[in-house]
Amino acid sequence: MSYIELSAVVPCYNEEESLAELFRRLDAACANVASRYEILLIDDGSKDRTWELISGLAEANPQLVGVRLARNHGHQLALSAGLSVCRGQRVLIIDADLQDPPELLPKMMEAIDEGAEVVYGKRTVRQGETQFKKFTAQLFYRLLNRLVDIEIPLDTGDFRLMTRKALDFLLSMPEQHRFIRGMVAWIGLKQVPLEYVREERFAGETKYPIAKMIGLAIDAITGFSVRPLRISTYLGFWVAGLAALLLAYSLFSWAFFQTVSGWTSLIGVVLALGAIQLVVLGVIGEYLGRLFLEAKRRPLFLIDEIKHSGEIAQTLSPPLNNGKTDAYMLGER
Ligand code: UDP
Ligand code: MG
Repeated sequence: MSYIELSAVVPCYNEEESLAELFRRLDAACANVASRYEILLIDDGSKDRTWELISGLAEANPQLVGVRLARNHGHQLALSAGLSVCRGQRVLIIDADLQDPPELLPKMMEAIDEGAEVVYGKRTVRQGETQFKKFTAQLFYRLLNRLVDIEIPLDTGDFRLMTRKALDFLLSMPEQHRFIRGMVAWIGLKQVPLEYVREERFAGETKYPIAKMIGLAIDAITGFSVRPLRISTYLGFWVAGLAALLLAYSLFSWAFFQTVSGWTSLIGVVLALGAIQLVVLGVIGEYLGRLFLEAKRRPLFLIDEIKHSGEIAQTLSPPLNNGKTDAYMLGER
């Protein structure tokens, strides 16, 4: 039985203007390097004609798999959905807006042939993006590396080619708040960069407004580090130290100078209690934060529909255990 050599996974949110050109270029790039491949277009609850176009393309092209999520789950979860459903021995992650050129595929395949498990795109130049976006992105990647314990490569997005082994490792991680480029870095294995110029969006506007960027940044930091919580604990200890000094001072004033009676003890108690509360809150927060995020055990994403006209359509019915980590087991490999 021949297996699928390559899967390309593309999350799409309101990308009606880019889809046709994306499919044309990506399909050509895949056909260039593999004889059996599939292209997964994940409709992340788009409000425009994205799903209509994906369905149309899926009917005409048996190598295309259309996956429609039940609502907008966000880029990282749409991507996770595609990665769970895909069946290739190697998987390419790429954005729908053609900012990352599919034509790099042969070079990426070469790096994997030479023994790498992950080849990630590293942006040397970012074209057509605002100064603000470039500045905040730079700042973010550097701050992130100070806070987390693993090394997340600088100036790298999700554009990458991975082997099935690396993908299976990634899919075995069940967390809800996903920062996929960080999770891939966490895996280890042999990972190599491939430098490229990030182009301008083919059409439309960025689907990552500032609020979503901040959300991704917070997921990245909390997903890989408990340092912010620890900082609050340290803060508590600093305040406690300060309180001790002030207490000594007020005791001294009480003994040697005239003070309003009751003031000293009042200040002492208020300061000590405030400090202790901060310490304790920091410690509780450390546990609560971790528990809360994982306790809900909700599926990561919900697949509404899969459209596929290829010979293996029947193996691609939506998984019953939508989004659970073992959903990727379904289907032929
Ligand atoms: N995207 C998505 N769901 C969202 C937001 C974005 O699937 O809620 C997709 C989008 O269609 C694109 C990719 O994620 O393929 C990256 O988004 P975008 O290009 O807007 O981000 P930027 O490159 O500006 O950071
Ligand atoms: Mg983009």
